[in-house]
Amino acid sequence: MALVTTTEMFKKAYDGGYAVGAFNVNNMEIVQGITEAAGELKSPVILQVSKGARAYANHTYLVKLVEAAVIENPEIPIALHLDHGDTFELCKSCIDGGFTSVMIDASSKSFEENIALTKQVVEYAHDHGVVVEAELGTLAGIEDEVVVEAGHESYTRPEEVEEFVSRTGCDSLAIAIGTSHGAYKFTAAQCTRNADGILVPPPLRFDVLEECIKRLPGFPIVLHGSSSVPQEFVKMVNQYGGNMPDAVGIPEEQLRKAATLAVCKINIDSDIRLAMTGNIRKYFAEHPDHFDPRQYLKPARQAVKDMVAHKIKYVLGSDGKA
Ligand SMILES: [Zn+2]
Repeated sequence: MALVTTTEMFKKAYDGGYAVGAFNVNNMEIVQGITEAAGELKSPVILQVSKGARAYANHTYLVKLVEAAVIENPEIPIALHLDHGDTFELCKSCIDGGFTSVMIDASSKSFEENIALTKQVVEYAHDHGVVVEAELGTLAGIEDEVVVEAGHESYTRPEEVEEFVSRTGCDSLAIAIGTSHGAYKFTAAQCTRNADGILVPPPLRFDVLEECIKRLPGFPIVLHGSSSVPQEFVKMVNQYGGNMPDAVGIPEEQLRKAATLAVCKINIDSDIRLAMTGNIRKYFAEHPDHFDPRQYLKPARQAVKDMVAHKIKYVLGSDGKA
């Protein structure tokens, strides 16, 4: 199978009551960990590249790594997506350079400016067989170069979604219902603490999601900032010399519920970072004399694979759907 767009994936996910995982890739081990898990579980998967990833690893390296994963996993559909494109030029460069899907994120602009820029990207993308994700509403948190301070986020206004989608022609829509970018999604003041002293974040706004679904029947919805920040990794980081107090994410059962509704794409990045960092820290602590990068990148890659397999089976529900 060659690289595919998300059109067919999303249609099947919408009808089947599951979501496709969109995992951020920055290097070979991450690409391998994600696609080995998806391949073994016969799950469709989206590999996404941010502006920061492109600056770090170079466009060509990332495209070729993803193409290698496609060759190694011929039985599953894989899409290559630009995460948070902020200009027409960046989207165009990815469309011209082998991506099958791009996001134009003009959500920080006015409604009319968001429509104008999104429409411009959609026209170019559709002419080239590429699909477009757009965004309405603003998430809090930090993701690469996207920074929104707590208190400046805003939920998607359901009354705007129909006009936005029909005027832009976008293929999927990211909405803000309380998810957040990064490993510190909520301040302690926004949360309660459970019996173990772990922060429990405020619940997602399913009422906003339901209202959007009602106005856009059959249309694929996307959730950004949907890492669950597994406490086993946070603990590992902190146990082996790290310092990440009160890192907190979105509870997996809430994401599972969203996946059964119209949410067809769930973005996960921080959990990959935590899985790798926790395991590399542990490896260094336990093997202070080792210096071959293969020795510590191997368990890091395995941790990414195990984490992604867990998401596919228990959060996304996309196993066996390839
Ligand atoms: Zn995002």
